[in-house]
Amino acid sequence: MLWSLIKILAFVVAVTALTYGGTQLMEVDGGMTVDVAGQEFTLSPIEMVFGLVVLVVAVWLGLKLLALCVATFKFLNGDETAISRYFDRNRERKGYEALSEGMMALASGEGHLAMTKAARADKYLQQPQLTNLLTAQAAEMTGDRKTAEDTYKKLLADDKTRFVGVRGIMKQKLADGDTDTAMKLAEKAFALKPKHEETQDVLLRLQADASDWAGARKTLGAKLKSGSLPRDVHKRRDAVLALSEARDILSDGKTIEAREAAIEANRLSPDLIPAAVMAARGYIGEGNARYATRVLTKTWNAQPHPDIAAAFAEVAPDESAEERLKRFKTLTKATTDHPETKMLIAELQIAAEDFPAAKRALGDLVGTDPTARNLTLMAAIERGEGADDAVVRGWLTKALTAPRGPQWICENCQHIHPSWAATCSNCGSFDTLSWKTPPASEVAMPAGTEMLPMIVGQPAEVAIPAAEIVEDADVMEESEVK
Ligand SMILES: [Zn+2]
Repeated sequence: MLWSLIKILAFVVAVTALTYGGTQLMEVDGGMTVDVAGQEFTLSPIEMVFGLVVLVVAVWLGLKLLALCVATFKFLNGDETAISRYFDRNRERKGYEALSEGMMALASGEGHLAMTKAARADKYLQQPQLTNLLTAQAAEMTGDRKTAEDTYKKLLADDKTRFVGVRGIMKQKLADGDTDTAMKLAEKAFALKPKHEETQDVLLRLQADASDWAGARKTLGAKLKSGSLPRDVHKRRDAVLALSEARDILSDGKTIEAREAAIEANRLSPDLIPAAVMAARGYIGEGNARYATRVLTKTWNAQPHPDIAAAFAEVAPDESAEERLKRFKTLTKATTDHPETKMLIAELQIAAEDFPAAKRALGDLVGTDPTARNLTLMAAIERGEGADDAVVRGWLTKALTAPRGPQWICENCQHIHPSWAATCSNCGSFDTLSWKTPPASEVAMPAGTEMLPMIVGQPAEVAIPAAEIVEDADVMEESEVK
């Protein structure tokens, strides 16, 4: 209220002052004579004041116009101005819009749309590191490999995007089956980003496939260091690689180095059967029977396996069957109930021609867990005991269709391997072979044994005793061990 009053008062004062000033000016005599282009103008004081105001306004307008001209000139020259900034912002907005739409299209599986959007984003944004990635992925999706590869190559140029480029081309080469180039690219990608888990895995697989065991061990070490592999798994896989290395060295004829590598593999993973066997053979080669026995026993206790028994036999190749039976007690004393132990003792007893003892060793294994192997052993025992031919044939006929017992099976694809290998020959997985019984249907014959009597004669019931003694049980046992 008071403020309004003050404003009104100020207005009245100003108007009064202006009126008074104007009256004073009009009453003042004289004036000013201005000479413009030969003509004289005489200005009264009030006209002078008006003229001055007009002049000030004109100068102000002139200056503004000049600034505008300068701005326009700069804009035309390409300098950043408010106008260009306005247009830039507009382009940027359109560019990001296209980019996000492109990403949406990619996520929803519309490759062609994503390509179009990527091109549009590239035009507006001029930021190839952003748009190239979209282009490459969209090109992959639409099956345009050429564009994808070209775009990945563009990504190689920038430090920030080089890894993505290398990885992209590497994946293409992998899909093409060009493993040599893929491996070089994987090595490059690994050098750029040693902690990248996928790169580590790809490189490791390629190195294992190419039998580059030393390189693979290095990569495995990097995996451990970057924390993407538990320590025990690392140890086991390192052992597998060391063993593979040892096998390769051995095939090159360097027995001493191979021996060391095998012993190293066995030290890393005492459960790894082929490593134990190879290390033991190394010790046997050195004449160190005690170490060979120790290594084999340790592994046998973890996982009884015929290969270990075979290597254990090699520790003393010239001993008699009785001596062998006695010595093998060291190996088997901790695993007397294991089927592998039962079959091993039975085989040793057959070799020693003590058939009743062999039968005792087998126990009820042919009833509880019949396999081709223990049924064949039973046939050998029956033959050794002098059973009728029909009885022997009865066991052998059963053996023909019985499960084969434990095998080296890939945990990943269930493929059965005749011998242990670091990588599965079927699916290429690394360290997936384990010694176990395949699914029951594995060896079923389509017609069962119904056809067999026509080939082997009518098999007798297997419990019938007979008087005739057949002498070549040893030959049979021999072929069985193999
Ligand atoms: Zn496999």
